[in-house]
Amino acid sequence: ENTPPSNFIRNIIDEDMASGKWGGRVVTRFPPEPNGYLHIGHAKSICLNFGLARDYQGKCHLRFDDTNPTKEDVEYVDSIQEDVRWLGFDWGENRFYASDYFDQLYDFAERLIKAGKAYVDDQSAEQIRATRGTLTAPGVDSPWRDRSVEENLDLFRRMRDGEFADGAKVLRAKIDMAAPNIVLRDPTLYRIRRVSHHRTGDKWRIYPMYDFTHCLSDSIEGITHSICTLEFEDNRALYDWVLDQLGVYHPQQIEFARLNLDYTVMSKRKLLTLVEGGHVSGWDDPRMPTIAGLRRRGVTPQAIRDFCEVIGVGKSQAWIGLDKLENAIRNDLNTKTPRVMAVLDPLKVVITNYPDDQVDELSAPYFPDDPPKMGARTVPFCRELYIEREDFMEDPPRKYHRLAPGREVRLRWAYFITCQEAVKDPATGRIVELRCTYDPATKGGDAPDGRKVKGTIHWVSARHCLEAQARLYDRLFLDPRPEDVEGDWRENINPQSLVVMPTAKLEPSLAQAQPGERFQFERKGYFIADAKEHQPDETLVFNRIVGLRDSWAK
Ligand code: ATP
Ligand code: MG
Ligand code: MG
Repeated sequence: ENTPPSNFIRNIIDEDMASGKWGGRVVTRFPPEPNGYLHIGHAKSICLNFGLARDYQGKCHLRFDDTNPTKEDVEYVDSIQEDVRWLGFDWGENRFYASDYFDQLYDFAERLIKAGKAYVDDQSAEQIRATRGTLTAPGVDSPWRDRSVEENLDLFRRMRDGEFADGAKVLRAKIDMAAPNIVLRDPTLYRIRRVSHHRTGDKWRIYPMYDFTHCLSDSIEGITHSICTLEFEDNRALYDWVLDQLGVYHPQQIEFARLNLDYTVMSKRKLLTLVEGGHVSGWDDPRMPTIAGLRRRGVTPQAIRDFCEVIGVGKSQAWIGLDKLENAIRNDLNTKTPRVMAVLDPLKVVITNYPDDQVDELSAPYFPDDPPKMGARTVPFCRELYIEREDFMEDPPRKYHRLAPGREVRLRWAYFITCQEAVKDPATGRIVELRCTYDPATKGGDAPDGRKVKGTIHWVSARHCLEAQARLYDRLFLDPRPEDVEGDWRENINPQSLVVMPTAKLEPSLAQAQPGERFQFERKGYFIADAKEHQPDETLVFNRIVGLRDSWAK
């Protein structure tokens, strides 16, 4: 791989390396909360953090930020590890859980209490919110703000021991209720949640908040550059405050702009709603922006890494067009996937002058631009074929160069054919069959008399083809900013986001295609045999990964 493009974070690290600020170390971390599956936004953070560790001979920790027991689950822990590995990154020995630090975090909290820097507040969450003030008005001190150290310690220990109900008390930092930065107005550090945790069981009845946990976890692990998204810019003051009060090792928090993708929602909470509401088939529905969904869709890890590199890392919020992702996918697949022929919406063709008992075995290279790459397969040609229904028009406009009554086209790798007649169902008027003639002299696709045809179309033999289901995917939402539309954002789901072609016909060489194998279906796009539902020789199910930029017959 090439040298990655520079960005402002790399510039900071270069300066740190030059000044020896961290003793020449680079230690980053990727800290997901295991409350859902990872999405392409997380991929940006993964590529950034693991990429920095790779390029500076440092380390990147995988840390589960598991301090919210009600929403977390081992299913998510497992999926996150699978997805990070699949993206091509490795945390080695360095897998951590914030919950492993609960004892240490508790001790740090007591130290803050003893230093007069934290207090137990009996106000409800609503009261605390209501007295926090606004950007223009200071907050109001809690009536419990001046409890003695002894009383605070006693109450905090009793909170730990499970004496109080959920919500009855919290531990707050004692900073400044008039601070211009609202994050510093006595933020909550611990709350009571008398629930089991997926790793610590029933040991804890109180759980630390994100802002308290995160900085101290970074400190404990010796992180150098703690990279997070811009929403945490205001929280940096609290990150610094906690570490400064405790006088412990102090990493540097750096914020970058999160990835926002057009026509996509990207919060785990919202994606969970889609899964639970049955709007998609699961976290790995190929329309989902999750890593699992992209994988099942057929997107490669290389394409995702390339995409993350192309979009870059900066400080300004931007919305990225889906074309950027699609281009990265095509660029990666173009030279890697063999080309085959599949007819998604079949129309029967009978070659009236082709002998009924004859079959031609035609040779077709898998990589027409680079034939030696994978060689060729044979495709059978006989009297009955299928072509794409859209490749015939009874009354074509001027620029249409495909099949029409009296018109001659080339069948890819085969012969020129001329349409003599379109047979209709008398009841519906729908065309059910084309009757065509072929020119035996054009075998392989060229006419010895030098005659040209403008259109080349794909086809399969009706007697040899395989039945398959092809699934065509489009953007999941109709609006580029689904979260901004009026009303329920779920009603903005694109009803055409999944179109199933139930009677697709594939050339016989695909009989043994394995789940997860990718192909370019000529003129139709890149496809993958579905990882879950495709069974070779039994049930053939192909997902369209992405369409082609352009096709060779108009
Ligand atoms: P979500 O709201 O989607 O659940 P999150 O930030 O709550 O996202 P975390 O599990 O905390 O999810 O995220 C782990 C890491 O991934 C964090 O460091 C976060 O900054 C980063 N991350 C999450 N979403 C994005 C995004 N859209 N672009 C870049 N980085 C992201
Ligand atoms: Mg988070
Ligand atoms: Mg979240």
